[in-house]
This record gives sequence, C-alpha cells and structure tokens, in this order.
Amino acid sequence: MVMLADEIYALAQRLFPICRSITGNGVRDTLAILASVHPIKVHEVPSGTKAFDWIVPKEWNLRDAFVKDESGRKIVDFHEHNLHVMGYSTPVDVELTLEQLKAHLHSDPLKPNAIPYVTSYYKEDWGFCIQDEKKARLKEGRYRAHIDSTLENGFLTYGEILLPGSTTEEILLSTYICHPSMANDDLSGPCILIHLAKEIASWEKRRYTYRIVFVPETIGSIVYLNRNLDHMRKNTLAGFVLTCLGDNRTYSYLASRYGNTLADKVAQNILKFHHPDYKRYSFLYRGSDERQYCAPGVDLPVCGISRTLYGQFPEYHTSEDDLSLISPNGLQGGFDVIHKMLFALENNRRYRGKTLCEPQLGKRGLYHSQSYKGLETNYTTLSDFLAYVDGTNDLIDISNIVNIPVGTLAAAAEKLLEFDLIEEVE
Ligand code: ZN
Repeated sequence: MVMLADEIYALAQRLFPICRSITGNGVRDTLAILASVHPIKVHEVPSGTKAFDWIVPKEWNLRDAFVKDESGRKIVDFHEHNLHVMGYSTPVDVELTLEQLKAHLHSDPLKPNAIPYVTSYYKEDWGFCIQDEKKARLKEGRYRAHIDSTLENGFLTYGEILLPGSTTEEILLSTYICHPSMANDDLSGPCILIHLAKEIASWEKRRYTYRIVFVPETIGSIVYLNRNLDHMRKNTLAGFVLTCLGDNRTYSYLASRYGNTLADKVAQNILKFHHPDYKRYSFLYRGSDERQYCAPGVDLPVCGISRTLYGQFPEYHTSEDDLSLISPNGLQGGFDVIHKMLFALENNRRYRGKTLCEPQLGKRGLYHSQSYKGLETNYTTLSDFLAYVDGTNDLIDISNIVNIPVGTLAAAAEKLLEFDLIEEVE
C-alpha cells in the first residue's frame, strides 16, 4: 500500500520541474496534475480585468532563455533551472558587455551558491538570476542574452473546489500555485491541500461546506475575493492559508489581524496539544494571502498555518528550497495538523448538562476508564467536561480550560449524549 506521505511527496516531485508564475501555462499544467488527485474547477480571468485596486496582468509564458559567452557556451541556461530567469521577463535577444549584462543579473552575496528567486510582475523588465560565486567569476567580453518569452493579453488561471456540507457555513482553505521550482514555498501547500480535498470529500458526514482555492499569490486571492467576497463574508466560519508545510523542523501559526477568530482559536488549541513548541507569529509577519483575506473591510476569519514560516528558513526563495528540504514525514505532519483542526471544527459544539448537581456516573457504568471510538474517555475526562457544560463554552473553550484535547472531549460528548446527560445548545 502506498502511504499518504509518499503520495504527497511524489506529487511534489512531479510538479517540481514546472515553470510556474502568476499566470501562464505553468499554472494550468500544475492544476491539471493536482486534479489527478481530486477534480478541480479551473477559472480563467482575462488580462485587464479589474479587481479592487488591481488589474489582472498580461499572461506570461517562457519557452527558452540563456546567456552565452563569446565562445557560444551557455553560461546560464533556463533548462538547467527555471529560477535562472527573472519571473515575467520580457522577450529579449541582445549582445552586451559584461558590465551591461551585470545590470540584468540578480544574485545574493549572502547565499553565494544559490540561485535567488526574483520576479518583476508589474514593471516590464528582463533579467537572469545566478549564483553570486558564478557571477564573480564571469570574465570581460561580449555576451548574448536571449529570452524567448511572451507577455500578452491572456488569462489569470485559478482552481476551486467546493464541497457542500449539511450547513452553508464554510471553511476556507487557500494556497498558492505561482512559484517556479521551489519545494517548501510553494509546492508543499497545494500538494497537501489537494490530498486534504480528497480526504474531506470522502467524509461520510460533513457539517460545513469547504471552499478550497488554488490561486496565484496576492493577485489571485484579490481576484478571488473580488468575485466572491459578499458570499464569503456571509458564510465563512474559519479559514486557513496553507503554505510552507513540508519541512520537518517546526510548526508555525500566523495570527489573523487581531488573532481573535475561530480559526485562530482552533489553530492554537491544536498546536498547543500536538506541537507545544510551535512558533506563534503576529499579523505583522504576514506574507501570504492572509494579507488579503484579513484586510480591513474584508475581515475574514483566516489565519496562516506552516511548518517553518516563509522568510524564516535559510533556503527561502532560492534554489536551495528544493525537494531535499521537504520530506514525506514533513508533508504528512503538515497534512495531519490541518486535518486535526478541521476535525476539531467539525465536532465543535456547545452543550448543556441536563442534571442539576453532578449526574451519578457510577450507576451508568461510566465511573471507570473506557475506550470509546479509540479515544480514552475516563472518569476524569467525563467529570471535568461535565463541570463546564453550561451552554456557554464550546468544545475548544472547554479543551483550553480542562487541558484535554478536543478529539477526546468530542468522544466524551458522544458518550454523554448517548446517556442523555447533555444536550446540544444552538
Ligand atoms: Zn514565496
């Protein structure tokens, strides 16, 4: 049997070579491969479409690019690594001196062996990205820079999955699909999210409707909100931006603007129990689509969940963020932590006890430890839970008070419902 962890990793391996950007065939190819796990509805938004303060840019596609030296040897080759070409580079075919070429070469002296990730989406320009040590070794002479790209009216492409539940209240799961060959940022997000979509779709009962989106970062979420904000404002109960979920170092939570939404509450609860050494970041560390989902006036209850957060790992936005940075175990950890949050939300209810004073658990055979649906619901759990079922706290609140995971409390609640000792409060 193929393990889920290996399946998620294999998907990342398959997607890794594709040259992605905020528009273009790389996005389409990526969505097509993701859709082999679970069907995705693909939307195409024409260049020039207005979305709040933004305009959908021209579509960019890249076929080939290189820099040759005087001897005709390719010293930079797009086919070796797609990070070598600055994203959204305009087409060019020129001869230039080393000094003229250097004006178009991006490198990072602090990471001399890595190719940096550079884009120029909204200012027409061209450029190459190379290792700083390689740049330092370039000799005087004539060079030819060639970029065979197109930047034309076309479309912005995004993917969407809607999984209806028994209520119209929605959980938003969002990730981005616009980075070229880098593994943790961004392939870990979409590879985990599509497998989560498959998992959620398989649930027998779904209380909430799931809105799952794969967008190019920033412009994609802005376009998506422009089209769906009214509906999302009315229906979104909680949402998560999934990014950088594949390394195996730590877990991170990036708070919503004020950190006070249901998404924040469940994220912190799950992380506290399962990964107590997780890192907490305020909204001041925002860097992905939570910037749009939590913007003033949009105000969706959305927080970010990562393993090591973007910007906080040394390989970030370089060629060193490759398939060796992520692992089946790392990805599985990312999958599991989101899955636990969704399970907690699905089971989160308010209950009220039906007796005055403690119910007599002994006469119902509930005084001794027992396992229920694989979870230990011992006397202490039931008793502590019953001490707080006054109709005001939900399961996550009680979990925080009595220091017992939501999953265990959910099992306790089922047991107590069965014995008619508690009732659900709307
Ligand atoms: Zn990034």
